Amino acid sequence: MSKVRIYTLAKDLGVDNHRMLAMLDDLGVQYKSVSSTLEEDVVETIKGLVAEEQASGSGGGSDSAPAEQQAQTESAAPSTPAPVAVAERPAPGEAPAAPGMPTRAPVVTIMGHVDHGKTSLLDYIRKTKVAAKEAGGITQHVGAFEAKTSKGKIVFIDTPGHEAFTTIRARGANVADIAIIVVAADDSIMPQTREAVAHAQAANIPLIVAINKIDLPQADVERVKTDLTQVNLVPEDYGGDTVVVPVSAKTGEGVEDLLEYISLTAELEDLRADPKGEFAGVIIESKVDKQAGVLATVMVQEGTLHVGDFLVVGENYGKIKAMSGSDGERIKEAGPSTPVQVLGFSENPSSGDKVASAKNEHAAREVIAARVDKRREDEEQGKRRKMTLEEMMGP
Ligand code: GDP
Ligand code: MG
Repeated sequence: MSKVRIYTLAKDLGVDNHRMLAMLDDLGVQYKSVSSTLEEDVVETIKGLVAEEQASGSGGGSDSAPAEQQAQTESAAPSTPAPVAVAERPAPGEAPAAPGMPTRAPVVTIMGHVDHGKTSLLDYIRKTKVAAKEAGGITQHVGAFEAKTSKGKIVFIDTPGHEAFTTIRARGANVADIAIIVVAADDSIMPQTREAVAHAQAANIPLIVAINKIDLPQADVERVKTDLTQVNLVPEDYGGDTVVVPVSAKTGEGVEDLLEYISLTAELEDLRADPKGEFAGVIIESKVDKQAGVLATVMVQEGTLHVGDFLVVGENYGKIKAMSGSDGERIKEAGPSTPVQVLGFSENPSSGDKVASAKNEHAAREVIAARVDKRREDEEQGKRRKMTLEEMMGP
């Protein structure tokens, strides 16, 4: 019998990955990630444990609900699997999410060297995973889209990944949970690949390497894997813990695996947000439509947006007149990890601007007045500091 990967075993036994890792921790088994392989005796032990649990009817965290149903649960109801003794593994530098809060879909950014296939890969995913639109509907570019997979929803940031991600991050907002680094199999690591890796590492988010263009005759997956070790990304089959998925954006080969790895990674990140909490969001991109006015794409991070809500961005506010989802459909409300296009701002916000909500117009004005005061004060202080500096330097 060949070795079994952790997530495959979990799937076969109908146990969720967290539960599986907790069992391995209990057994003192070492592993690097959910795609690490297990020795046969460990597999047998786990099978025995699960059988025992099921026999005694205490199978906490058992996860045999059909994927469809799971996906729905995820987006709609705050029900999460019964809490089990799970080894806490929050992303480095990030506080673990409060348990009991509903899970949310992962937000993924795709980065990599020019021409390595970022747009093509997104196009392929969008084409195959986004519900076909009604005739007559024009796909608006909203900078993000939701892919429906058998494992639930995945949100992709669709703007030229690199730039959007960097601008947004440079402005202090973190919008992506997972980075996909695309490397062309015929070109291997290039300067912007290194940059992309550095960005993902600076953001402290897990990354997955997609080796693209494997359909090309000159594709050399092994070379890319070897080269990856030079940027300290050691593929799993080289003994490291970097997930590497060979794909072709042209034929679609491997794309399903990539989506599966994204879901697995997200599951381990344990991403949660409170749809009933205070609203918080980030501007992904924004444009001015001659007829409609300002159309801003907002990523909902916490809470829920409703048509009619007052939003504050920087020193401006707006009332949401209309909202559409990433498929262009009109929606009335949007919860965490939902990209929405919002109509109602009078000024054009910038990518990375943080968005907050206010109870009413009066409250929105107050927030803005406070921000304006604060800015003026900072400016004054800056001026004073400059003056003192000049005095110190003398004439
Ligand atoms: P980006 O600059 O990273 O967004 O790269 P693009 O998606 O624009 O792709 C650059 C070029 O590579 C285009 O001519 C694509 O058709 C081609 N390309 C992208 N992915 C694949 C692939 O999987 N196989 C092949 N054969 N060509 C690809
Ligand atoms: Mg592109």
